Amino acid sequence: MTCRRNPKLTVKLDPSISKEEFYRTIKGKFLRAIKNNKLIRQSDKILVACSGGKDSMLVLYLMSQHYHAQTTALHVDQGICGVSSPSLKIVKKYCALWDIPLKIVSFKQEFGKTLDQMVKKTDHSPCYVCGVVRRYLINKTAREEGFTKLATGHNLDDEAQSILMNVVMGDLRRQARLGYSTGIVTHKGFVQRIKPLRDVYEKETMINEQLKEWNLFTCNCKYAIDSFRGRMRDLLDDYEAKHPQTKKNIINFYDSKIIPKLAQKQIKPVKNCANCGEPSSQEPCKTCQIINKLKK
Ligand code: SF4
Repeated sequence: MTCRRNPKLTVKLDPSISKEEFYRTIKGKFLRAIKNNKLIRQSDKILVACSGGKDSMLVLYLMSQHYHAQTTALHVDQGICGVSSPSLKIVKKYCALWDIPLKIVSFKQEFGKTLDQMVKKTDHSPCYVCGVVRRYLINKTAREEGFTKLATGHNLDDEAQSILMNVVMGDLRRQARLGYSTGIVTHKGFVQRIKPLRDVYEKETMINEQLKEWNLFTCNCKYAIDSFRGRMRDLLDDYEAKHPQTKKNIINFYDSKIIPKLAQKQIKPVKNCANCGEPSSQEPCKTCQIINKLKK
């Protein structure tokens, strides 16, 4: 999501590197992540979740260059005043430019309420509601429309933040879901998620946006203030400034040491929500819990 942008990050292309070299580096990381982790097969139908921000638009661009015939974009309109329509405009513009089909779904259409309306009736944080409902809708749309891969714009910074957030929360189940692809927690109702930008730093996606002059929408979401992820991001950025490679080291540690241990553990299997039928580790699923509260 565009809401993850870190205004503190200074972004400037190293003068010793040419634009072409920089683009080659990004493309190389994207293609290597796909090849080394077998993320895409020729028969796959790929849905790219696009918020209109620098990360998801970079995935869409690279997919349009390398997997054009297999790619479709998906935009979820959460219904946030001042955010939703400019984001949609961006996604529409670039889908037309890169000749990629676009699907649009919305909170309002699916649940009868926008996020702005939902947050007035629940005591959960807006970002929690936004994240839970958006993930639900993206997975459901991908599965119902027959897509076999769901690509997201998660970058290296996002992944390092998620690993540490799960440590702080002591959440083993969420920890097991990370990686280049859907983690070790699987269910036939989940479309396989892929993260082809997992080796690309957020700084690089920002520089890419500037160099390409895409003029994407900068999210000013009123709910972005003081989120858990935001605090973790600031902490990691400060640490990385003093100890370069910290983020990469966290990811390497996760891939080489944590995941093999988690794979040996019995993680509770995912079931189907008795209410909506979607895969869930809770009963009812988190989305139904939110929607039920809205009805009271
Ligand atoms: S509600 Fe939170 S997660 Fe959703 S767009 Fe706003 S800042 Fe991002």
